[in-house]
Amino acid sequence: MGVWLKAKETAEQVRAEVAAEAARQRANGTIPKIAALVVGSDPASVYYAETKRKVAAKLGIEFELMKQPGDVTQDQLIRIVSEWSRDAAVHGIMLELPLPAHISTSAVAAAIDPLKDVDGVTPANRLAVMTGESGLVPATPQSCIRLLKAYGYTLEGKNVTLVGRGQTVGLPLFHMLQREQATVTVCHSRTPDLTFHLKHADIVVAAVGKPGVITWEMILPGTIVIDAGIHELPDGRITGDVDPRAIEVAEAMSPVPGGVGTLTTALLFENAMRAIRLQQQAGREAAR
Ligand code: NAP
Repeated sequence: MGVWLKAKETAEQVRAEVAAEAARQRANGTIPKIAALVVGSDPASVYYAETKRKVAAKLGIEFELMKQPGDVTQDQLIRIVSEWSRDAAVHGIMLELPLPAHISTSAVAAAIDPLKDVDGVTPANRLAVMTGESGLVPATPQSCIRLLKAYGYTLEGKNVTLVGRGQTVGLPLFHMLQREQATVTVCHSRTPDLTFHLKHADIVVAAVGKPGVITWEMILPGTIVIDAGIHELPDGRITGDVDPRAIEVAEAMSPVPGGVGTLTTALLFENAMRAIRLQQQAGREAAR
């Protein structure tokens, strides 16, 4: 039986540091503020945004939640995020994804000031993830790596099999894992024999979006498993991409819920604090 890689303690630590920094910013006259945009009535998007609003209140961060109908135009969304980008009182901008099919996510993301891009979706921050230059890095891939490190696991020289190459998790994580000096194999929907690649892995990261796509029989004893998937089952239970019975063979595995997602929310607010520092630094440089 392996060890569950629970994120609660690390997430609490991150939140405590964020709350302390928010208090310092307030004492110095900056009231940290995030603006979030939810389009349409997708229950998951509304739920995530409401959760972030509650966490923000506990951390001493203002949170403006704007809801727009599903038939809003792309131009209207671009106008909203452009206004927030110009507004000095807004320090972080969150765009709840996915957007409706008639809207180009990259067009809206491109209108966000990269220094306020706490989700790491702007072209500048996507490039920074690839090159390793300074920027705002998406929270979920960060969470996968931070969770491993919190339990003392290192990535250098390890064989990591990453399942999923999506824009939100898999693709940025691929670049980040390589920079941690891991040897990364990326699997996707056209990979004919997933089991073959899982059996060569020291660490498996699942970022697919299909419950149980990785069964326990596919995991070799001694493997470390990070499950970034989140799904709500018809009975309301939350589950990941990996069959939880894999804990019986794995050396360690992150639970769903209570793993990657738990830490992701905390890291989003850590990103917001970093965003404030980057904006203050840019302000000082502009004044010179
Ligand atoms: P995405 O864009 O939908 O990408 C899914 C990836 O999975 C694609 O690369 C797809 O392959 C691959 N895939 C689909 N079926 C597969 C199969 N049978 N075998 C192997 N690979 C398969 O997903 P995403 O937005 O990156 O998100 C991935 C997961 O992370 C979702 O479950 C989402 O809920 C979760 N998530 C979690 C958090 C968190 O905080 N924990 C935050 C955001 C998202 P192709 O490229 O070939 O289509």
